[in-house]
Amino acid sequence: MHDIGNGAFIENLLNDNQMIIEPLYLPTQQTCGCQFYIYRGDLECSVAPGNKRHKLKYHLQQASKENKKILATFGGPHSNHIAAFVAQCKHQGLTPLIVVRGETWAKLTPTLRQAVDSGALLFPSERVDYKLGLRANIKKVVDEYYDHQVYWIPEGGAGAEGVRGCLDWANEIYRLCRGKPFHLCIASGTGTTAAGFAASGFSSMTVFSALKGVVSLTTNIENQCLDAGLSINTSIKGFDEALHGGFGKVSTAQLDFLKTLKTLNPDIPLDPLYTSKMVYKVNQLCAQGEWQHDHTLFVHTGGLQGWQGLPLEKQVY
Ligand SMILES: *Cc1c(COP(=O)(O)O)cnc(C)c1O
Repeated sequence: MHDIGNGAFIENLLNDNQMIIEPLYLPTQQTCGCQFYIYRGDLECSVAPGNKRHKLKYHLQQASKENKKILATFGGPHSNHIAAFVAQCKHQGLTPLIVVRGETWAKLTPTLRQAVDSGALLFPSERVDYKLGLRANIKKVVDEYYDHQVYWIPEGGAGAEGVRGCLDWANEIYRLCRGKPFHLCIASGTGTTAAGFAASGFSSMTVFSALKGVVSLTTNIENQCLDAGLSINTSIKGFDEALHGGFGKVSTAQLDFLKTLKTLNPDIPLDPLYTSKMVYKVNQLCAQGEWQHDHTLFVHTGGLQGWQGLPLEKQVY
């Protein structure tokens, strides 16, 4: 027998020092008899909530050790990484420098406008060069211009530092669960965040890529753990994004789903590119009788600022 009323599994909200787990009600929940919860990473702090802050943690520590005052990174014009990076730099009195993907902009996106208002320096880059990441020519130009005093962070805060920051985060959330056997669900892009969770105390998780056509998602996550010197304790299953048109795309079905989800959970907004696609997929699997986990914990990885990049008629929250 399943108890459909969420909340029987955990007496109340699990709430500890700004960390919150609460029930999330899915439209197809009655069909599958499973219970769903969400860890509210979007509520963790007012300065750059979500996973990006955790991915940046050890990068910022390293920059401070090296006594670097200018921090540079790469990002797309709507990127959550950029938003978090700028907020963190500002908070610590450092100068953020951003190599932005794409050649010219007639007008700054809301994300870049906010970055500039917070004192960020923007460098446009051609897509071919941008793709080279830390080997890009624009990096050499910036390094010479600032006399090699710049600390560089890879796009999205990836790398071993990013994985280790997410492992710390995962372990905090794991402790908050107080031994309840949750099956974890996490949205992924680079897989760095998922890698941190894979090395944590959680025993099983499903990873939902925001990218279409990713193969060997789980191998990629395992390799990131290895590169960071971490062993994997979690069994992982992965899905790619095959329902909404790929990264950065938002489908009508997705927006309709979010409107329904909002009526069930008025105080839990999801982001357009990662967390909403994850919950959509689980809801669908549930309807198909293919979701077998009694107690699921979604991780809200933030990203609500991403709504700013969408036109008015697509806004849900
Ligand atoms: C960047 C991002 C992710 C993916 O994180 P990765 O570490 O790149 O896998 C998930 N959710 C949100 C809201 C993000 O901004």
